[in-house]
Parts: sequence; structure tokens; C-alpha cells
Amino acid sequence: MAIDERTVLIAGGGPVGLLCAWLLGRQGIPVRLFDANAGLQADPRAATTHPATLDLLVDDGLSQDMAEVGLVAPIFQFWDRPSNRLVAEFDHAVLAKDTRHPFVVQCEQFKTSQLLLKRVKALPNVEILFDHEVVDVRQAASGVSVDVKGPAGVQSHDGAYLIGADGGRSVVRKRSDIAFNGFTWPERFIVLTTPFDFRSERGYSFRSYFAEPGAWCNCFKVSADGPPGLWRTVFPTEPSQEDSWILSDAGVQERMQRFFPAPRPYHIVHRNLYVTHQRVASTFREGRVLLAGDAAHVNNPIGGMGLNGGIQDAVNLAGKLSGVLLRGEPDRLLDLYDLQRRTVAVEFVQEQSIANKKRLEESDPEVRKRNLDELSRIAEDPERSRQFLLRTAMIASQRRADSITLA
Ligand SMILES: Cc1cc2nc3c(=O)[nH]c(=O)nc-3n(C[C@H](O)[C@H](O)[C@H](O)COP(=O)(O)OP(=O)(O)OC[C@H]3O[C@@H](n4cnc5c(N)ncnc54)[C@H](O)[C@@H]3O)c2cc1C
Repeated sequence: MAIDERTVLIAGGGPVGLLCAWLLGRQGIPVRLFDANAGLQADPRAATTHPATLDLLVDDGLSQDMAEVGLVAPIFQFWDRPSNRLVAEFDHAVLAKDTRHPFVVQCEQFKTSQLLLKRVKALPNVEILFDHEVVDVRQAASGVSVDVKGPAGVQSHDGAYLIGADGGRSVVRKRSDIAFNGFTWPERFIVLTTPFDFRSERGYSFRSYFAEPGAWCNCFKVSADGPPGLWRTVFPTEPSQEDSWILSDAGVQERMQRFFPAPRPYHIVHRNLYVTHQRVASTFREGRVLLAGDAAHVNNPIGGMGLNGGIQDAVNLAGKLSGVLLRGEPDRLLDLYDLQRRTVAVEFVQEQSIANKKRLEESDPEVRKRNLDELSRIAEDPERSRQFLLRTAMIASQRRADSITLA
């Protein structure tokens, strides 16, 4: 592939990096993407794709393809775990006038990555280099260079811009001296995946949140390799517990049985433990370096907002970068990218994901009752429901980002 002065380098071939590559590449911009792994990552992380995000992915039938390989889930529920009482049920149908997709799509992120990789591979101007780890970044007035460790040793590559989509531990962010302020939750989060059918056995919707004093659970269905699909449960763990216990068969069964008592042991097909942070980069743009996705912001998974925010970054950034590279639009547009996307990362995603966690784990009986009663009342009122869903479906944050202009 010929490198020209418009070449965009991308560090990271997760869903955000691949989406950037596709959106830029399909407009004819030369792209070179590096990923440290030998191929796509298949760990069970994001699944929930919100209406606002689906609305951005209609080109070339991408959101439709995601729905076909995933599950369409118009409804989500809140449950009070100790009493096994359904507190509130929300139906995205109330958003029919706000979105083309009044539902979420549960599409595992490796499937989204596969759909993107297939599209990217069809573009002759996009080069995807797996087994290539970005180890250093340098900038000059006219361009940016990265040092990349690959099978042939460390080599330098030049481009006009570099997108750091290299995840929460981003080397691009660190080598660009961009702070990542926020905090780390003391408890780690465990994902346990089981074929146990929580809908037919318990009546839980494909996306259900459980409140319990001092604890919580997200329980959601994914299509996996096809019917009948799998259910993923996400729990907090106790900071004092050893990994070996948390991940042992006995530890896993004890956790599942305490939350969802069942007459038989659960069949667990995946178990993964995650350290979880709430952090936002101090800037999403430093000269010719742009950050997107987890490299720019990380949050807890309650509400499923991390990757959605990353996809929204990618669409916003690719639109502005192509304006600069193809249509001679001012480079200040990239400052607007930073302003729009960082504002909503702080005002919406951080705030909402922390509030979601606090609401589920609240242990003061009065506050807890007040919170759960309030959720029930919102669910019973169609207009309040709509307002609530505009936030959870990330439509409000998209509207807020679009309303921000440069001074
Ligand atoms: C349990 C759990 C559940 C979640 N559920 C949801 C959900 O339902 N909805 C949602 O929106 N979000 C969810 N998230 C968050 C979501 O998984 C992340 O936001 C998402 O993975 C971010 O995508 P990304 O492409 O920015 O980064 P990543 O997926 O982390 O990809 C980064 C890529 O960069 C590569 N890389 C790293 N360093 C380098 C380097 N130096 N050089 C080259 N390549 C490099 C890696 O190999 C990787 O392929 C969840 C997270 C967890 C832990």
C-alpha cells in the first residue's frame, strides 16, 4: 500500500480502531492499523449496543448485520434480588420517534469486530497488521511517527495523524503524556457465562439488572454460536478474596447460588475477572495524536456504555478527520472532536455508570426503597420512561455532543 501525506495510522484493532479504519478507508484515505495481538480478541466483554449507536451504523447494513448475528432486545428490567420482585420494566418502543432502532442489540464485541474486519479487508487502501505492537510515538509539525515491534523487529512508520484506539492501557496515550484521571474500583468484576435459561426458568428479560444491598448483578443474554445462546452474569467481587478462590469451581458456584439459588450446580462455560476503572483522558487530542474508545475513557460496565461511547467517538472523529484530509477543512475541527466527545464522556457516561452502580448496590434501606420506588414510578409513566430511556439509550448524550460548538 502506498503511503501518502494523508495516511492515518491507527494503534489498536479492537472494535473502535477497526471502525475508524473502515470509516476512513471507505472514503479513500490510506490507513495502516497495528494490533499487538495475533488476531481479533474473543474475550466476553461488550454486548449491549444502544439505539444511538445503532443509528450511527446503518451504512452498508452494519447495524442490521449486528442484529442478525446478535439478539434484538427491546425490553430491560430492574429486579430487587432479595425479594425477587420485578421493580421496573422499560420498553424502548417509547423511543419510536427518537431513533430508527427502538431496541438494543446484544452483539458480542468480537462479532462486531469480525463484521468490521471483513469490510476493512475489502478496501485496498487499508492495511491491517496483527502481531504489531506500537511501542513509541513521536510528533513533528508535519506528521507523526510510531515505532512498532513486529515479527521483523522494531520499525518506524509515518503518517499524517495517529489514532490511539489501543485500549485502557493505551501506549499512545502514555507516550503522548496525556493524563488519565479518575479512580479504580477496589472490587473487581467477574463475568460468569452459563447456558442456564434465565428467561424460561425465571422470567428475566434479555437484559436484567439486579439490586441487592452491597452487591448487584447484570444478567444478559447473548446469541453466542447460535440457539439457544448463553447468559452472562456480571458481579462485583470482594476485594479481600484471592483470585484462586474467586475463579475456582466452588467460588463460582457459591456466587451463583447465593444470587440465583437453583437446585443444581450451574454449568459455567466462561469465567473472567476484570479490574474496573472510571477514568477520562485529560484531552482526546494532542497535536496529531487522537484518542478514541477505551484509550480515551473507561467506566464500569453497568448500563453497557463503554464501547458505545467508543463507537460514537470513532464516527465523530472519522467524520472530522476526513473533512480535514479530503476537503481541506480546518484542523481545529479536531479540537471540536475533543470538546464534544470528552464533555459527554464526563457528563454522561462517567456520571451515569457510577449512578447505575450506586443505585443497584445501595444498602441504606430507606434510600434503597426510595430509589427502587422511583424507578417503578418512572416505568409506569410513558413520558418519564421516555426521558429515562433517552439517557440510557445514549440519545441524550449524542444530542448534547452535537450541540457543542467551538467558541
Ligand atoms: C465485563 C465487561 C462488559 C462490558 N460490556 C459492555 C457493554 O455491554 N456495552 C459497552 O458499550 N461496553 C461494554 N464494555 C466495555 C467494552 O468492552 C470496551 O469499552 C471496549 O472493548 C473498547 O473497545 P476499544 O476498541 O476501545 O478497546 P479494546 O477492545 O480494548 O481494543 C484495544 C485493541 O488494541 C490492541 N492494543 C493494545 N495495545 C496495543 C499496542 N501498544 N499496539 C498495538 N495494539 C495494541 C489490543 O490488542 C486490542 O485489540 C464491557 C467491558 C467489560 C469488562
